[in-house]
Amino acid sequence: MSLYQFYRDPYQTELSTQVVSLDEQRLVLEDTLFYPHGGGQPGDTGRVNVGGRTVDIVDTRYSKDRSRIEHHLAEPIDASPGDSAELTLNWERRYRHMRMHTCLHLLCHLIKDPVTGGNVGAEQSRAEFDLSTPIDKLELEAQLNALIEQGASVSTEWLPENILDEQPDLVRTMSVQPPRGHGDIRMVRIDGLDFQPCGGTHLKDIREIGAVHIPSIKSKGKQNKRINVELVD
Ligand SMILES: [Zn+2]
Repeated sequence: MSLYQFYRDPYQTELSTQVVSLDEQRLVLEDTLFYPHGGGQPGDTGRVNVGGRTVDIVDTRYSKDRSRIEHHLAEPIDASPGDSAELTLNWERRYRHMRMHTCLHLLCHLIKDPVTGGNVGAEQSRAEFDLSTPIDKLELEAQLNALIEQGASVSTEWLPENILDEQPDLVRTMSVQPPRGHGDIRMVRIDGLDFQPCGGTHLKDIREIGAVHIPSIKSKGKQNKRINVELVD
């Protein structure tokens, strides 16, 4: 299967590619650096230059049938199939998403209870668990920071999707089942700590997350708790 550039190199910030189609203000390109909204991670933003004109990309989403990635433009442009397009990613925002997303996977390592939800944001992220025992906010924050300081490499691999029938417990987030029917499932491994299906963009090493803060743990039900996480800088 051919991979988009944001999967081949999630650290790349500029790309030259070609226009495939333009429908209203939704631009489809041959390849892209822009992660499309999904799996709790927001769609990327940035800029595209087509025919000497630069416009903002305000969101990136899969088309309804998930067959293509649509870059949502801030204003209309003229573009024809085959035109060259230069992409520039809003790296500052995306890098925070990467740090946050990898951090949420670390929480999945620290808390073995079922994950009921999760959402990545540049300013604040959250993960929800059905907790079997109460957890202490400060203790969790200290554990998380200790792990990050220790470091661990992060890698991705593609496995045949029947692995999920054989090992259903690999799926940690019950509310977000990985897309099936494409043959392979993308797995994200944090060396020695966590291994789960995920389509998101991740860091090379958890050390890059840097110091984190847990401002609150909120009750969302009898056992369901929402853990909010922020990056210290
Ligand atoms: Zn993930």
